[in-house]
Amino acid sequence: MTSHIAIVGAGIVGLSHAVAALDAGYRVTVIEEGSAAQLASIRNFGHVCTSVQAGEVGELAREANPIWRSLAERAGVEARVSGTLAVARSAAEEAVLVELAGRTAANERELLTAQQVARELRLAEPGAIRAGLMLAGDLTANPRTVVADLAAWVDAHERGEMRFSTSVRGIREGQHLTVETNRGDIAADRVIVATGHLVGRLFPELAEDVRECVLQMARVRAPHDMGLGPAVLSGTSMLRYGAFAGPAQEALRAETARIRPDLLDIGANVMFTQQPDGTLLVGDSHDYFDTAPPFLDERWSELLLADAAALLGAPRLEVLERWQGIYASSSERELLREQPIPGVHVVTVTTGIGMTIGPALGARTIAAL
Ligand SMILES: Cc1cc2nc3c(=O)[nH]c(=O)nc-3n(C[C@H](O)[C@H](O)[C@H](O)COP(=O)(O)OP(=O)(O)OC[C@H]3O[C@@H](n4cnc5c(N)ncnc54)[C@H](O)[C@@H]3O)c2cc1C
Repeated sequence: MTSHIAIVGAGIVGLSHAVAALDAGYRVTVIEEGSAAQLASIRNFGHVCTSVQAGEVGELAREANPIWRSLAERAGVEARVSGTLAVARSAAEEAVLVELAGRTAANERELLTAQQVARELRLAEPGAIRAGLMLAGDLTANPRTVVADLAAWVDAHERGEMRFSTSVRGIREGQHLTVETNRGDIAADRVIVATGHLVGRLFPELAEDVRECVLQMARVRAPHDMGLGPAVLSGTSMLRYGAFAGPAQEALRAETARIRPDLLDIGANVMFTQQPDGTLLVGDSHDYFDTAPPFLDERWSELLLADAAALLGAPRLEVLERWQGIYASSSERELLREQPIPGVHVVTVTTGIGMTIGPALGARTIAAL
């Protein structure tokens, strides 16, 4: 009999494991408590932001990038090589971009003038924009469709099966592993637990350091015909991603604290990606809780939208939808990878980059079995 892997959670991390396991010849059952996966993996920007990661997650991001491209080809997942455009509107931001450009291979990046940035964003004139850095290899996926498309691919595979509306309550050891669900037991040789920020529900002892990071997001109409462009990062993004770290980033942090403490107060990372219908996914703020309250502070949205509008030279942005996203967060580690029971692998991304590195995590876990 082919060895059977049960996977708990049909977000990008669970489904990435499912694809890798099917490719490796296993039989796979993915168990998802929602009638569709509706948590972090559909609420994000879909930004596969390979080029701005550093350290171990940087390596994972580089491994994941070609897997994303192959998923687009063979599973029909909506993901395009869009590149990432980091836009500088001050000398301090420009210095961060110049520093990163100096550390990035010449064929992977291009420093742009204000006029070139304006052309990329199809702006009549650059306005406050001073410069940009185009990072060519990054992708933009459609978070509304990616996990549904991957789930359909898994379900159509002769050794794959999706079980939606099925909640896992526990995992029992014995002759083999037994996954206890609200719809009965499922036997498995291995279990992958990919339940995102809900990891503490099944394994509280593994997740003492895991908190819920809450982000405010909006989908807006593009203020002018922008074609389908790159993912766009701004100055506050330069304060968040590892690859921007350096003396210029520290100077920018000090300047932002002086000039825009309001953006720092809400943990802003003002950025947007463009979806196939032309609309923009704009965000985001960061706030941390043990259990996230559902309430969205409109002033936070206004700050994010006003800064994105200013970058695009628009008086305001027309909001089509708003939502809250939650991801697992830890101040102690970027990844939670544990084996609480022999044969049970718990995999949670504890920084907000699971879309970027999920496919590589799946490939690595399965290769190590
Ligand atoms: C607003 C926002 C923007 C982001 N932007 C980006 C971005 O642009 N790029 C990037 O790389 N990352 C981004 N991230 C982070 C990224 O979305 C997450 O890291 C990633 O989606 C986590 O995937 P996951 O599969 O671990 O979790 P999830 O997508 O949360 O999936 C976990 C699944 O497990 C299921 N589940 C939980 N418990 C059980 C159970 N007991 N039984 C059965 N099923 C269960 C849930 O229903 C859920 O569907 C963003 C996150 C947010 C919130």
